[in-house]
Amino acid sequence: MTIAPVLTAPAAELAGKVAESVRLLQGAVREHGRVVYASSLGPEAAVLTDLIFAHAPQIDIFTVDTGRLPEATLELLERIERRYGRRIRVVFPEAQRVQNYVADHGVNGFYRGLAQRHACCHIRKVEPFQRAIFGYHAWVTGVRHEQSAERAATPTLEFDARYRLQKINPLLPWTHGDIWNYIRAEKLPYNPLHDAGYPSIGCAPCSRAIEPGQDSRAGRWWWESPESRECGLQPRQLPGSISDL
Ligand code: SF4
Repeated sequence: MTIAPVLTAPAAELAGKVAESVRLLQGAVREHGRVVYASSLGPEAAVLTDLIFAHAPQIDIFTVDTGRLPEATLELLERIERRYGRRIRVVFPEAQRVQNYVADHGVNGFYRGLAQRHACCHIRKVEPFQRAIFGYHAWVTGVRHEQSAERAATPTLEFDARYRLQKINPLLPWTHGDIWNYIRAEKLPYNPLHDAGYPSIGCAPCSRAIEPGQDSRAGRWWWESPESRECGLQPRQLPGSISDL
């Protein structure tokens, strides 16, 4: 199944959204100085990485390697670095914490219950993320209005009380089609798993392809009830945020 749609949006409309996103990214640098983007390496991340490297290179980009990512995701990281001639900072979990977790719960302990799964996500994603954003004044996200009713009310700029950082949301008006139109038009590197039925890709053992018509998050932590499918970085995780790690 191919997730990426064919081109549909008028080019001028997309160009306007690109210009506005760039304006917000550059404004964030001017106003906040130290700005960071946590890349999920998903489709929204492809767009934001392209815009940041081209128009706001002062923004630092990092991603978290949980140690359980699909090989296709690591290959994508390499292709991104080749395209831009830039190194993306990769942040890892603390080895001792992973070792303790595996000793207590087993290498795939996350399948055994919600507490074990949350503990794994905390050690492999949340703690490295928190460590990586420490010292910054603002962080950029890839959330979009159409992702949920909650996200429809998200402002462009907001204070993130949880991490005590200003939050910049430059892709809010972009549609799923806009994201893929831009990726296609600019020939950006993206994860081939998206063309194999994975709208959302995280760690290999916790992501799988979905059937046509299923919710886009159905392949994430598929053995759990839909309400629990988030990793604790933000309330209600969504594609395009760091949650896709
Ligand atoms: S997604 Fe799965 S493997 Fe990855 S950190 Fe969370 S529980 Fe662990």
